[in-house]
Amino acid sequence: DRTLAVFTSGGDAQGMNAAVRAVVRVAIYLGCKVYFIKEGYQGMVDGGENIVEATWSSVSSIIHQGGTIIGSARCMDFKERQGRLKAAANLVEKEINNLVVIGGDGSLTGADLFRQEWSSLLEELVSNKTISQEQLDKHKNLKIVGLVGSIDNDFCGTDMTIGTDSALHRIIEAIDAIVSTAYSHQRTFIMEVMGRHCGYLALVAALTSEADYVFIPEIPPPDDWQTKLCKKLEQERTAGQRLNIIIVSEGAIDRNGKAITAEQVKKVIEDNLHQDTRITVLGHVQRGGCPSAFDRVLGSRMGAEAVLALMEAEDTAEPCVISLDGNQAVRLPLMECVKLTKEVAKAMAEKNWQRAVELRGKS
Ligand code: ADP
Repeated sequence: DRTLAVFTSGGDAQGMNAAVRAVVRVAIYLGCKVYFIKEGYQGMVDGGENIVEATWSSVSSIIHQGGTIIGSARCMDFKERQGRLKAAANLVEKEINNLVVIGGDGSLTGADLFRQEWSSLLEELVSNKTISQEQLDKHKNLKIVGLVGSIDNDFCGTDMTIGTDSALHRIIEAIDAIVSTAYSHQRTFIMEVMGRHCGYLALVAALTSEADYVFIPEIPPPDDWQTKLCKKLEQERTAGQRLNIIIVSEGAIDRNGKAITAEQVKKVIEDNLHQDTRITVLGHVQRGGCPSAFDRVLGSRMGAEAVLALMEAEDTAEPCVISLDGNQAVRLPLMECVKLTKEVAKAMAEKNWQRAVELRGKS
C-alpha cells in the first residue's frame, strides 16, 4: 500500500504547486509510487491519460509558479455515485489506495463521501465485473489526507489556508497603487475583494492599508451604516486626508442578510458627500501571480506532512486534514473541520453573527 496519488481540486490557489512538489518528493524519498491525477475529480472520473506517474523531475521548477500545474476543475460527475464509481475503478486499476487531495471545503467534503462509500463502490464494481474479487481484497481500504488550498482562509481548523497570504500580497499591491492615484485626484476608492462568505481577506487588507471603512459578512454594519460611513469619510477629509479607501468583501451583507455591494456604497457616498468615487473590483488578479514565501513554505510543509500522515496511518484510518495550529503542522479529523466550516455558514444564514465570529475565531 505504498502507492499514492495527489490532485488539486476546486478553486486554484498560489502555493498548491509547492504542496504537490513536496508530496511527490517526500513520497519518492520514502519509496512510494506516486501518481498525479490531472484536472481534479474530473481526471479521476475520466482516468486514462489523466492519471500519470510523477517523477522527481516532473515537479522541478514549479515552486514559484502560481495556480496548479496538474490542473483543477469543478466536476459535476463526481457529485453523482456513477461518477464516483468510475473514479474508484480508475484508482483500483492503478493500484492507488492513498490519496492526497488539495482543495477547499467542497473538495474535502467530496473526499470524505468517497471514503465512506469506498467499500460499497468496490462491491458494485465486483458485481458488475469491472474488477475482480482479488482486486477488491487488495484495495478494500482507501486512506485520504486533505490539504486546504483556498485564497479565502475560510476553513475551520487551520490558522491559514494555502494561498491566502499570496492573495493578500496581490490585494495590498493593488491598494497601494490605487492610493497613489487617489491621492493625486482626491478620490474615494471602493475596492471589492474576494473571500466568498469569509471576510478575512477584506479585514486584513483593510488593517494593512489604513482603509477608512470595511464591510465583511461576519460582522454586518449597524443599520444606519450609510450615516456612519459618510460621517467617518467626512471627518477624515476635514482632518486633511486627500483620499478615502473602503474595502468591500464580495460576501458583505447587512443585518437583514442582504448583500452590500460596491455599487450601493458608491451611490451612498456620491449622493451624500458628492465625492469623486470609483470602484475597483480586483477579481481573479487575487488568485494569480507568484506564491509568497509563506505560501511556498506552507505548501511544502503541508505536503510533506500529508505523506507522513498517510504512511503512518492505520489501513482503516478516517481521513484527516493537515492544519496549521500556532505554526505547527497538525492532523485533524477531516469531517469535524468540514462540519465546523459549514456551521459558520449556517450561523451567518441564521443571522447569528456572534456565533459566526466565535467559530471563525476557532479557525
Ligand atoms: P472548493 O473545493 O474550492 O470548495 P467546490 O465546492 O467547487 O470547490 O468543490 C470542488 C469539487 O469537489 C466539485 O466540483 C465536486 O466535484 C467535488 N465536490 C464538492 N462537494 C461535493 C459533494 N458534496 N459530494 C461529492 N463531491 C463534491
